[in-house]
Amino acid sequence: MKQVAIIGAGATGLAAAWDLAKAGYAVTIYEAADRVGGLAGGFRDEGWAWSLEKFYHHWFQSDTAILRLMEELGVRDQVIFPRPKTSLWSHGKPYLFDNPRSMLFFPHLPLIPKLRFGLVGLYLRLSKNWRALERYTADQWLQRTMGRRAYCDIWRPMLIGKFGALYDQVTMAWFWARIHTRTVRLGTYIGGFQAFLDTFAQKLCARGVQIALKAPIQAVQQDADGIHVTASGATARYDALISTTSPQATLKLIPQLETADPEYARKLRALRHMGAAVVIFALRHQLLTDGTYWLNLPASSPDKAQSEFPFVALCEHTNFVSRAHYNGDHLVYCGEYVQPDHAYLHMPEDELADLFMRTLKTFNARFTPAWIRKRWVFRTPYAQPIPFVNHSQNIPPLQTPLKGVYMANMSQVYPWDRGTNYAVMIGRDVAALVQRAL
Ligand SMILES: Cc1cc2nc3c(=O)[nH]c(=O)nc-3n(C[C@H](O)[C@H](O)[C@H](O)COP(=O)(O)OP(=O)(O)OC[C@H]3O[C@@H](n4cnc5c(N)ncnc54)[C@H](O)[C@@H]3O)c2cc1C
Repeated sequence: MKQVAIIGAGATGLAAAWDLAKAGYAVTIYEAADRVGGLAGGFRDEGWAWSLEKFYHHWFQSDTAILRLMEELGVRDQVIFPRPKTSLWSHGKPYLFDNPRSMLFFPHLPLIPKLRFGLVGLYLRLSKNWRALERYTADQWLQRTMGRRAYCDIWRPMLIGKFGALYDQVTMAWFWARIHTRTVRLGTYIGGFQAFLDTFAQKLCARGVQIALKAPIQAVQQDADGIHVTASGATARYDALISTTSPQATLKLIPQLETADPEYARKLRALRHMGAAVVIFALRHQLLTDGTYWLNLPASSPDKAQSEFPFVALCEHTNFVSRAHYNGDHLVYCGEYVQPDHAYLHMPEDELADLFMRTLKTFNARFTPAWIRKRWVFRTPYAQPIPFVNHSQNIPPLQTPLKGVYMANMSQVYPWDRGTNYAVMIGRDVAALVQRAL
């Protein structure tokens, strides 16, 4: 039996393991954390029936790769698609902003820019030709097509929110992908994303996959005999290895990639990404009383330190999923995207939570710190790949220059944006490649 090792039990690693196990390979997943799930994983506070994602997560109805996998696993009926409200903060209040009618009634944009905004959105929904768009930045293309007014009022602040000072270098193909596929109904799993990931892991184990938790891989060595993986002080030999961690972390873990092909290593190093910092507040009262689940906050300056809000997304989870599953808590995420060396990713948790908490009064004048029952802070340096123009030429292939060594992660799903759907897609793609090679 051929042996395959996988670094990481996130959605990519689990999906790759599923196909490889079905094809008869002996698969071992090494996971550094104490449970499966990676970025999509969750936690459960005392008294909660459902888990809560560490970073806000939902699916779109167009997420066919993961929904198809769920069919295969026999759990598709556990996904629900409520219709939560997505709003935009403008002139001191939230405006519903997730369907043509709500956009038409948005009062802070004149009619002509509004129509141009709508027509460009329609074009992006219908057009399939993302390759024609990738040589433009979203900043150039959107300004030219919808005009400065609509672009600067609506999309520019959101691009800044996601990419900070690099917002005007992001390719239009990335923007196209977001508009092209997204739906207004958003999906979640009964019990939370972690419930799905745990069920998936159980089904993998039933098929013979070994999942080693709290087992960070420390070293990988490839030679004519195979691939030698060291974790928890023990070394095992494999016929193939798939790394699902970030390009930079993969390079650090497998320095042989550098000697095998310095140009490949340079390409990995050149890939850029944003980190994310999220504070979750369990509140005693509802914060967004108009029922908004997702509130986009405009980032007014590319220098985020100058922006009105210290975070870009305010997401009241319990306006999406009933708080009955969370013992009555009102759960609010405050999320910000930052450069991987930004202070938000390193400062003491209390300091970050205080900074974000001070803004909550803006959204509900009755808010006081006494509303907070508990809070959690989650951070990651690898949250959002940054795709620049003509990015398709920069994507490293799944097969690395080392025979038997593969890499599959968020940085390679372009033009699609990162997401568990695309993690499943790339996980299955890499599994197919490994099968062909073995
Ligand atoms: C803020 C935020 C919001 C998001 N929102 C959504 C959303 O709404 N919907 C959606 O579908 N997706 C969303 N995503 C994206 C989604 O979480 C990712 O696309 C997906 O989880 C990536 O899965 P992965 O397996 O590729 O990577 P990861 O989940 O990062 O998994 C990699 C795993 O490798 C492990 N690992 C790393 N190094 C080692 C080592 N040396 N040894 C062993 N194990 C190691 C890590 O612990 C981790 O578990 C969001 C992400 C973020 C950050």
